[in-house]
Amino acid sequence: MAKRLPTLDLFAQAIRTKPVVARKLATVAKAQIEITAPDSQAVMLWDKCLEIIKDNVAGQVFKTWFEPITALCWKDSQLTIQVPSQFFYEWIEEHYYALLQKTIYQVLGSKSKLQYQVLVNKSGDTLEQRAIKLPAFRNAPATGTQSNQQNILPFASTTPVHQKYPNYLNSRYTFENFIRGESNQLASSGAMTVSEAPGKTRFNPLFIYGGTGLGKTHLVQAIGNHIVQNNSSTRVLYTNSERFTIEYVNAIQNNKVNEFTNFYRTIDVLIVDDIQFFSGKEKTQDNFFHTFNALYQAGKQLILTSDKPPKELTDVDDRLISRFQWGLTVDVQLPDYETRMAILQRKSLDEGFEIPSDIIEFIARHVFTSVRELEGSLISLIAKVSLDRRELSLDLAKEVVRGVSAPSDKSITIQDIIREVTKFYNFPLEDLAGKSRKHEIVLARQVAMYLTKRYTPLSLKNIGTYFGGRDHTTVLHSCQMITNYLGNDKSVVAAIESLTRIIGRD
Ligand code: ADP
Ligand code: MG
Repeated sequence: MAKRLPTLDLFAQAIRTKPVVARKLATVAKAQIEITAPDSQAVMLWDKCLEIIKDNVAGQVFKTWFEPITALCWKDSQLTIQVPSQFFYEWIEEHYYALLQKTIYQVLGSKSKLQYQVLVNKSGDTLEQRAIKLPAFRNAPATGTQSNQQNILPFASTTPVHQKYPNYLNSRYTFENFIRGESNQLASSGAMTVSEAPGKTRFNPLFIYGGTGLGKTHLVQAIGNHIVQNNSSTRVLYTNSERFTIEYVNAIQNNKVNEFTNFYRTIDVLIVDDIQFFSGKEKTQDNFFHTFNALYQAGKQLILTSDKPPKELTDVDDRLISRFQWGLTVDVQLPDYETRMAILQRKSLDEGFEIPSDIIEFIARHVFTSVRELEGSLISLIAKVSLDRRELSLDLAKEVVRGVSAPSDKSITIQDIIREVTKFYNFPLEDLAGKSRKHEIVLARQVAMYLTKRYTPLSLKNIGTYFGGRDHTTVLHSCQMITNYLGNDKSVVAAIESLTRIIGRD
């Protein structure tokens, strides 16, 4: 498995390839490459890529995620780069996939491939545990604003209980402005119950799951806000699994694991959003497991959200999964038509805008994939009327709905793609998002994911949540399958061509 790399005396080298740009890379996964030292052409090519990347990301992002990468070799149109850890690789793939793809194509040509290698130590563990070269956020200012929340270690060296800390609650999210409907009935009742008696009900932990933009963050933030309003001395902390992970890695790096652990022990109500990103991060999970136990035993409240139910979480320790199910597990679903109407009416009132019912109905009927999209279309309608001085009309609403989450004229949205793919294959969205393995449905689902990846800026992760909470590797696999079919299956070629024409990208 592992191969010694002569240039590194401490660490053995294992090849853990993951296809990223290489959509035809399926055969490479277990291959081992002979590498002696970084070759100069690889370094030169990667430098060119870096120049482009630098122009497209913020300085701190570049420093954190791209500077630590080393180019290793350039051979057979394949550029191999080395990243310090699995976590690093996942982060890059999740956040910078599109940018990397464009850059690699531009510099190396469209037939090229990119291959990652993850450094591992002699025992086969990734270096993640040693946090080598992982982002150094330690200089970030410790304030509670939303904008820099990713970068903060909220714990000081000793963390006495009275010490102030940013709780990351956003007062915008309240129960009062959360519209209840059939789709979120149980989740909102559970949330309200917990907010009245945190740690004292059977709903511990409260675990809310569901697709993106359906109100999970809103609900759990509303719990936190309600509790703090009722009793300002209750220590509430809202975080998410990514921030928890970054803080933990930084704590390791700075020899502050004890402080990190102690800080979390002082919290009365711990809210961890999007825990699906704990997936595969064993050490972080281990720490979170102990945090969970300590808080639970002390009668503190835990509140978690995820894009899928506990049992479907992948690469999450069974001990954690079983604990996640100790309390109340509830989902939030796509809002039905009536709830969509109610949300639109309420939000337009909040914005001080009276919108005729035919327009509200039109939006409610056509925007159905999430509350976030619903909100987005309403806001952009209002913006067009109040800022661009357009007349409020059904035509304007139609224009807006077509452009939801598509700021430029040419952009197309996932709704466009879902609408056309479901029409084309004659399967409803439920089938595409469902679990069926029937060949025709699987194909339609893969086509939809492929087109979404190709024509929208959505990340693999986001696309997955639209299709029944599938994870990013499934989406990646689907894209690769379609790319393979495009090489040898005429019916798929014809389908992709037609759909591309229909959605206006040809
Ligand atoms: P999630 O965390 O599930 O991805 P969010 O909680 O971020 O979704 O919700 C997306 C947006 O939709 C937020 O602005 C939120 O306030 C709004 N929203 C979601 N559900 C509702 C609801 N039932 N009533 C009012 N606003 C909602
Ligand atoms: Mg959320």
